[in-house]
Amino acid sequence: MPTVRAYAAHVPSAPLAPFTLERRAPGPNDVAIDILYCGVCHSDIHQARDEWGKGIFPMVPGHEIVGRVSAVGAEVTGFKPGDAVGVGCFVDSCRTCAHCDAGEEQYCIEGMTGTYNAFERGTKTPTYGGYSQAITVDAGYVLRIPEGLPLDRAAPLLCAGITTYSPLKHFGVKAGDRVAVVGLGGLGHMAVKLAAAMGAIVTVLSTSEAKRADAAALGAHDFAATRDGKVFKARAGEFDFIIDTVSAEHDYNAYLNLLKVDGTMVLLGIPEVPAPVAAGALIMKRRRLVGSLIGGIRETQEMLDFCAAHGVASDIELIRADQVNEAYERMIKGDVRYRFVIDCASLAG
Ligand code: NAP
Ligand code: ZN
Ligand code: ZN
Repeated sequence: MPTVRAYAAHVPSAPLAPFTLERRAPGPNDVAIDILYCGVCHSDIHQARDEWGKGIFPMVPGHEIVGRVSAVGAEVTGFKPGDAVGVGCFVDSCRTCAHCDAGEEQYCIEGMTGTYNAFERGTKTPTYGGYSQAITVDAGYVLRIPEGLPLDRAAPLLCAGITTYSPLKHFGVKAGDRVAVVGLGGLGHMAVKLAAAMGAIVTVLSTSEAKRADAAALGAHDFAATRDGKVFKARAGEFDFIIDTVSAEHDYNAYLNLLKVDGTMVLLGIPEVPAPVAAGALIMKRRRLVGSLIGGIRETQEMLDFCAAHGVASDIELIRADQVNEAYERMIKGDVRYRFVIDCASLAG
């Protein structure tokens, strides 16, 4: 049982601080991974501060994990020591329900087992995430990082990448579609890159005028600032598809009005509080308001291969583990360009 160093939220009200934990020795179907990089997702903040409730503390966040295999169990055939691998938002599921069968483990009827803030299946052993030096995961929940993807810039693909790729694919966004991305943070910047790589015409809707030039550099064709509200009249009825990645409370109706007839808005951001939706905003133009949760293992591998083929990776700011509290504060202010990634070598101390 190797002891590894980590960074944890010991309680929801305090900054994250050093922590040590035990990782299980690999069982027959397990892959032991030395973690190189872990992205910092806004979901880490929501959970470390217990904004969604029922958090399990101490909590080691982190579900955008990239590392190298250090050992494999006797039954594992798909991975060998030295392989570059990834772990995303879940490390297990029931493996027998219709959704697990369909490769959509995130919608497992019994509930997926989160990479952190969960218990290993059938036990009271907490799962701990990627702000740590190593992790042991069942081979069925480990991703292969394709050749050519830089490992630090690949880490955010494990959540921000798949969370935006999955609805683009599922709802059939195609070349020439007019797509708006609301909120240019970790998820938002991946949505821009992926939608542009699929041939969509992408507009960024942002509260930060200062991100205009970045939006173009990321591949967006157009940018509109939202703070003064003018865009909501000027661009009404323009978009086929809107990807809403906003982490804080905001007015869904204003954005719904930007959709065409039969347009779809997908909610990805999970604000702490619910927000009202006006029936008319949907009815008058037969619009759809939907949600989407990360993506299954098969689709995550497809997304990684797509990124390698199209030269897509996250734009990152590499930080030490002891800078994570500062990173949280900057993310809350929308000051992220465009994903903080922890260099887990900094945990060695
Ligand atoms: P992030 O990097 O912090 O980006 C969020 C962006 O939202 C900010 O950069 C900002 O962009 C915008 N924003 C923030 N506060 C706002 C406000 N009050 N009004 C309008 N816009 C605001 O966060 P992230 O990691 O991309 O995560 C975004 C959300 O998705 C979080 O709630 C997270 O929990 C959730 N999430 C969901 C899934 C899923 O499966 N559905 C997966 C991962 C994360 P601008 O400066 O451009 O306005
Ligand atoms: Zn995430
Ligand atoms: Zn299941």
